[in-house]
Amino acid sequence: MMPKRITIVLAASVALAATGVGTALAIGAFAPNEKERVVARALTDTHPKNVIFLLGDGMGTQEITAARYYQGVNNPLNVDRMPLTGFDTTWSVKPAAAAPYLPDYDPDSASTGTMWATGTKTLDERISQGPSSAINVPGANLQTVLERWQRRGARVGDVSTAEITDATPAVLASHISLRGCQGPADMGSCASERKGAGGLGSIAEQEVDHKVDVLLGGGRNRFTATIPDGPDAGKTVVDSAQRQRYQYVTDAAGLAAITNKGPRPFFDRDRDRDPKPVLGLFTTGNMSLEWSGPAAATGKGNDPAPCVENQRPANEPSLADMTSKAIKLLDDNNNRGFFLQIEGASIDKQDHATNACGQIGETVAFDTAIGVALDYQKSHPDTLVVVTADHAHTSQIVGEDASGSGLPTGYSTNLTTKDGSTLSLTYGTAGYGGAGAAPVAAPPSQQHTGSVVPVWARGPGSLAVLGTNDHTDLFKTLDG
Ligand code: MG
Ligand code: ZN
Repeated sequence: MMPKRITIVLAASVALAATGVGTALAIGAFAPNEKERVVARALTDTHPKNVIFLLGDGMGTQEITAARYYQGVNNPLNVDRMPLTGFDTTWSVKPAAAAPYLPDYDPDSASTGTMWATGTKTLDERISQGPSSAINVPGANLQTVLERWQRRGARVGDVSTAEITDATPAVLASHISLRGCQGPADMGSCASERKGAGGLGSIAEQEVDHKVDVLLGGGRNRFTATIPDGPDAGKTVVDSAQRQRYQYVTDAAGLAAITNKGPRPFFDRDRDRDPKPVLGLFTTGNMSLEWSGPAAATGKGNDPAPCVENQRPANEPSLADMTSKAIKLLDDNNNRGFFLQIEGASIDKQDHATNACGQIGETVAFDTAIGVALDYQKSHPDTLVVVTADHAHTSQIVGEDASGSGLPTGYSTNLTTKDGSTLSLTYGTAGYGGAGAAPVAAPPSQQHTGSVVPVWARGPGSLAVLGTNDHTDLFKTLDG
C-alpha cells in the first residue's frame, strides 16, 4: 500500500497560526509524490559525492518538539523536509583495563562524537581515541571520517556555534585523551600529549595541522594562546595557521568577503587547483545566543511570556550564514566532493542552563541551517544530508495547569507560543534537592539523558538511517 499523501500549504498554515485556529494539519512539507520519489531514488542511489552532516548538540525529541511547538504547530520545520528517519542509541563505555567495557548510558559530546567520527565506542571526555583503563590514560588514536575524506582528495569543513575546539567539532580533526585540552594554554591534564613531549598538541593546534579547508566558529582565545614547543614554539596558533596558508577572519563582514582563492592574482594558475583554507573565529568563547527570555523557576514558574528574538550581535555570522559560506567554499570548482559537519552547539548548553528561550532560539537557528543544506541538496542531488543529535537532554514539555502536589519537580518556564498558547518546559535532572527538601536557589547544570535520538536523512545513502541503529553506524554512512 502506498503511504498516505501528505501535503501542506505554507501560506494557509501561517494564516492559521496567526489567528490561533487549530485544525489538524499533518506536519511535513512535501510536494505530491515527493516522499515516494525520494525513497525510490534512495533505493538505487547509494554513494554520495558530498556529505553534509548536521547535529544539534543535546537536541533530542523533546528539544526539537519544543522548537516546533513554539514556532506554531502548523508551521513545519526544515527538518520535516527529510522523509527518511530512524533512531540511534548513544551509549558510551566506562574505563577498563581491556575489553569488554561496561556501557555508560548517559554519554557526553566527546564520546558520542567519537562514535560517528571513528565508528568506535569510547569513554566520555575522549576525542577520537579508543577507551583505556582510566580517563587520564590516553587511548589509541583512531582514524576519523574527515581524515578518510581528505585521503581521497575531497575537501572538508567543520563549523560550530561553540568554540571550534569544543568536543563536537574536535572529534573530526584531533585525537586527545581529554576534551578540556583545547588550546596550548590548556594542556595541564594532557601533558604527555604536548608536542614537546612527542604528542600531537592541543585540539586547536591539531585542527590547524589537519589543514581542514573550512573551520568556522567561536573559540578565538584558544588560537591566540602561545604554543610552548614544537616547530611553532613561541608563535600563536593563528600564526601557525597563517604559516600553513590559512586565511583568517574574525567577523561576519570578513567571512562574507572571503573566497577560497585568497589574495592571489587572477593569472595564478594554482588559483583553482589549490584553494586556500579559511579559519574564521568570531568570538573569544562560544558564539552569542540568538534569543533570550524568562528565567526558569521552581514550582509553577513565570507568568507566560514570549521569547525575545534577534539577540545575536550583527558582527557574528548566524549558523545559516556559516553553513551557506562553508558550502560555497567547499563546492567552488571542486569535482572531488566534500564532507562538512555543522553543529548547533548551544541547544545543549542552554538546556544545561535551564534557559528555555535560549535553547529554542538555538534550535530554530539550527533548523534554518538545515534549510540551507537541503536547498543545496535540491540542486545537487548527489549530496547526502544527515541530521541528528549527539545525545538526548533534560527538557520536557509538561502540563501548564499543574498545581499543588502535581507541580513539576524541577525548574520550569512558561512560554507564550506563536499560536498564542502556553508551552510549559521543565528541567528536572538536577538540583531540586529531593522530596521534602527546599529547592536550591540557583539552577545547577542539568544533566544529559540516555534516550535514543532521532536521525533524519535525504540523498544517496540515506536508507542507512532507517530503523534503530547505533551512533557508531553513522561512521559508515558519513564515509559515503
Ligand atoms: Mg557540542
Ligand atoms: Zn552537554
